[in-house]
Amino acid sequence: MNKKGRLIVVSGPSGAGKTSLLKILLERHKAKICFSVSHTSRKPRKNEKQGVDYNFISINEFKESIEQDVFLEYAMVHNNYYGTSKQQVEKVLKSGKDCLLDIDVQGGLNLMSRKTNAIYIFIAPPNFNTLKKRLLKRSTDSVEVIKKRLQNAKNELKQKGKYEYIIINDDLQKAYNKLESIIFFNGEKYDSTT
Ligand code: 5GP
Repeated sequence: MNKKGRLIVVSGPSGAGKTSLLKILLERHKAKICFSVSHTSRKPRKNEKQGVDYNFISINEFKESIEQDVFLEYAMVHNNYYGTSKQQVEKVLKSGKDCLLDIDVQGGLNLMSRKTNAIYIFIAPPNFNTLKKRLLKRSTDSVEVIKKRLQNAKNELKQKGKYEYIIINDDLQKAYNKLESIIFFNGEKYDSTT
């Protein structure tokens, strides 16, 4: 029988570079790591695809799914619901692949509080100004949404110490090396001082 895969939980504020890092990781390690596509009641952005970036569902469908205990965890983030499907995670882990979750801090802390066995990684920006600049440059969201995301980022950053590993994303390549080291070498090659 296959050895069960591991759960990898990655959190960090919008603009910390989490998506770029995870994209590289998934691209390079397709055979070993599978991304858990979350459900959300948020409307898709222009470049997003149903079933690839998210499973986009209505608020009512989301609420029904909560009732039916579909989610391993879920949270309200920036006024929208986001949740991880239990079934999807179990399927990946049973196949022997690692299952990667890109979830917010509420979701991460929720799993921690239930002692869910996982590798918990937080991706942080080098400083708040950089985060602000990155979010403005990205301009996929309205000013109102960006303001909300910045406020949320402040709250998320306060919780980073609760994660097992923190990666400061100052330089994409260095941050990526740390991410790989944590996942494949239990962080043994991980040097928190660089
Ligand atoms: P975005 O709207 O930018 O795609 O995502 C907003 C936030 O929701 C990100 O911090 C992302 O990590 C988080 N998120 C995405 N999927 C889930 C999920 O299934 N559960 C939780 N708790 N957060 C999620």
